[in-house]
Amino acid sequence: MRLYKTKRWERKRAAVLRRDEYLCRECKRYGKTTQATTVHHIYPLEQYPEWKWATWNMLSLCDACHNKMHDRDNGALTALGQSWVDRISPPP
Ligand SMILES: [Zn+2]
Ligand SMILES: [Zn+2]
Repeated sequence: MRLYKTKRWERKRAAVLRRDEYLCRECKRYGKTTQATTVHHIYPLEQYPEWKWATWNMLSLCDACHNKMHDRDNGALTALGQSWVDRISPPP
């Protein structure tokens, strides 16, 4: 995915990590504090390119949790990934 190589993404990613205080939001649900290393698109880029730059659509995660959001084989959302889609709605 080319997006992840751009300067604009680099800045956006840094802003999202800062917003989430550099902690994994999935681990946080279980009271764990784990350093976030990845910014995930809740509504996947491929299906929702209009929300590519929407900060509300982004989630700071650790690598382990990010791996749990996507199916290893096809990159599609897992049930856990889908649960975030269900939890987060686009702002009005
Ligand atoms: Zn985590
Ligand atoms: Zn992701």
